[in-house]
Amino acid sequence: MEKTTVAIIGGGVLGVGMLRDLSMRGVKAILIEEHDLGFGASSGYPGLLHSGGRYALHDPATAKVCAGENAIIRKIGRHCVQETAGYFIRLPEDDPGYEEKWVTACEATGIPLAEASLKDAHRLEPNLTVRAAAVYKLPDAAIDVFRLCRQNALSAQKYGGHALPFTAVTGIVHTNAHVQGLRIRNNLTGQFDTVCCDFIINAAGVWGGKVARLAGISLDITLTRRTLIYINHRLTNRIINRLHQPAPGDTFVPYDSMTILGTAYSPAEKPADFVPTTEEVVDLINTGEVLFEKLPYYPILRTCTEIRPRYRAAPGAAARETHRDFVMVDHSQEGLHGFASVIGGKLTTYRLLAEKITDFICGKLSIKSPCRTAQEPIIDIP
Ligand SMILES: Cc1cc2nc3c(=O)[nH]c(=O)nc-3n(C[C@H](O)[C@H](O)[C@H](O)COP(=O)(O)OP(=O)(O)OC[C@H]3O[C@@H](n4cnc5c(N)ncnc54)[C@H](O)[C@@H]3O)c2cc1C
Repeated sequence: MEKTTVAIIGGGVLGVGMLRDLSMRGVKAILIEEHDLGFGASSGYPGLLHSGGRYALHDPATAKVCAGENAIIRKIGRHCVQETAGYFIRLPEDDPGYEEKWVTACEATGIPLAEASLKDAHRLEPNLTVRAAAVYKLPDAAIDVFRLCRQNALSAQKYGGHALPFTAVTGIVHTNAHVQGLRIRNNLTGQFDTVCCDFIINAAGVWGGKVARLAGISLDITLTRRTLIYINHRLTNRIINRLHQPAPGDTFVPYDSMTILGTAYSPAEKPADFVPTTEEVVDLINTGEVLFEKLPYYPILRTCTEIRPRYRAAPGAAARETHRDFVMVDHSQEGLHGFASVIGGKLTTYRLLAEKITDFICGKLSIKSPCRTAQEPIIDIP
């Protein structure tokens, strides 16, 4: 039987971010992940470290947070980041009025952008359509999520944190309205065990509702399918976003020798609704080839569908919203102390969300220890 102060359920980027933060603050913590680290939405992500440009016009608050975290992650996790930079491209058929408003919004949000000459853009990105009418450069970057998850876990380990991959949480133990611990099963050996703890944080992503039910708590989560295509060619050296109202098929992320094209959206039936449809793939190619005409001629290496969760609060339900697409629910308000769930967020903002949740947990446990994850590199750089 293991004893710890905090148990984290879920080894996605949010879970490992919390494990690192708690461990650096001297709080004893264990993370339990049913599969390998990064198994869920974290690995179905196109690897785009947002500059904030995509959100500047419609969600300036999120854009500002992305801009700040983009700068921090490039500093603390630079061995996970490819400094590709990003281009936002307006085509002749896109509204120039939108471009004007977007430039003003980026400037107001503090996102560094610079207009690039079309000549330079075509020299640096020869596959880009010659129809491009305006090009802006922003500090978007590509990020290796698997490395990010692994290195957060290793960094936590340095401070005493402990990640248990291939281990499923099968039960939540509580008495007199207080959490006592978890029942876990090692998926490699089939062996069952117990973890005693004072606080449990449910960071199980789309499976968050299933995990909450282990404690008899209902968590209403809506699910959205997100489909990506991996093209077997590095079509672009920079992240490319089309400069118009964000839409499916308008983002290209270079990843080593591949390009990831996203994203098609549709409602999901279940957390494991993982099979891409032909229609989604064809739609992505059709919209994507407007920016890269040669796109249909390159082989598709793989397609991938992942599910993103969004919390749907019942009328009158307690929720602490830290960002527009992220919610933390403190289940003490439903009668179970020492249990909270976190749902949503973005990979770009994972560190900040982990900091907010860790502040909350430390507050509950009367631990006063400041966050240092924005200052200290994830791994030691000699
Ligand atoms: C297609 C797609 C595109 C995206 N695009 C962007 C983008 O451009 N920019 C951006 O910033 N963000 C983007 N995101 C969002 C980002 O990827 C997610 O916000 C982030 O990865 C969520 O991480 P998480 O740790 O909350 O959840 P997850 O990564 O889903 O982790 C949850 C983990 O919990 C584990 N688990 C579940 N049940 C149990 C159990 N009983 N016991 C133990 N473990 C359990 C699962 O195995 C899983 O590994 C995108 C997401 C998707 C899917």
